[in-house]
Amino acid sequence: MRLSILLFCTAAFAQQKQYPNLNAVSWMQTSAEYIGIATGAYQSAARSLDAALADPNWSAAYEQGTDFRALPPAVILDLDETVLDNSAHQARLVAQDAAFSEPVFQAWVGEARAGAIGGAVRFLDNALLKGVAPFYITNRQCDPMSDADATVRVLKRLRIPFDSSRLLCKTSTSDKTERRRHVAAKHRVLLLLGDDFNDFVKPPDSVAERAELARFHADKWGVKWFVIPNPTYGSWERAVGSTVADKLKALRQ
Ligand SMILES: [Mg+2]
Repeated sequence: MRLSILLFCTAAFAQQKQYPNLNAVSWMQTSAEYIGIATGAYQSAARSLDAALADPNWSAAYEQGTDFRALPPAVILDLDETVLDNSAHQARLVAQDAAFSEPVFQAWVGEARAGAIGGAVRFLDNALLKGVAPFYITNRQCDPMSDADATVRVLKRLRIPFDSSRLLCKTSTSDKTERRRHVAAKHRVLLLLGDDFNDFVKPPDSVAERAELARFHADKWGVKWFVIPNPTYGSWERAVGSTVADKLKALRQ
C-alpha cells in the first residue's frame, strides 16, 4: 500500500510543471558563488600556465604525441559556458517552460548576444602576452573565415582573442578528440578548459563509468584541466537521463 502511494506521488510529481532548470540558471545568473568559482578557475589556470611554460615535458592532452617538447605552446578552450555565457538563452527556456531545441539555440547564436564568462578574457589576454596560442574547440556550427558569422562576431564584440585558424567548429561529430589531435600535432597543449567532460576526453556513456574516468584523472583537475561550472546542461545530463523522473530515479538517498 505504502509503495503504491509513493509510486503515485513520484509519478504525479514528475508530471507537474517543475521549471527543472530554474535553480541552475538562477544560480549562474545571480550568485556570487558562481562568479567566485569561474573567476577562481581562470586565475588558477593562469598560475598553471606559468608552470606549464617552464616545464617542456608538460602536456595536458591525451592526444599529444611523444615528441612535443619543441612545439609552440597552446591552450584549448571550449566556447559555450566556458568562454561565452549563454545563460540568457537558458533563462528564456525557463521563462517559456520550453525544452532545448537546436533551431532555437541557433536563433540565439544568430543574435550574437552572448556575454563573456568572468575571468576568461583576462586569462586569454595574459596567455597571448606570454606567447601561448588560444584554440577554441566548439560544437557550434560556425564559419571562422566569415566576418558575418555570428560566433566570430560575438568573439570580436567581446574582445576575445580570435584567429580564424584557431576556431575549430563542429565537424561531422560532436566528439572533440580529432580536433584536439589536430591542435596537438603542431602545438604543445598546456591546458584544457571546459564546462563538459567532453572538453577533456571522449567520455563513456554511463554515470558510473564517467565518474570512474574522472577519478582516474584526479591529478589533472585544477592543474592541467580546468572546469567552469555549468549545472544547466551538458553530457552529464544525457548520462543520467534528461527527464525529471530519470533524475529522481538516479538520486542517492
Ligand atoms: Mg561548453
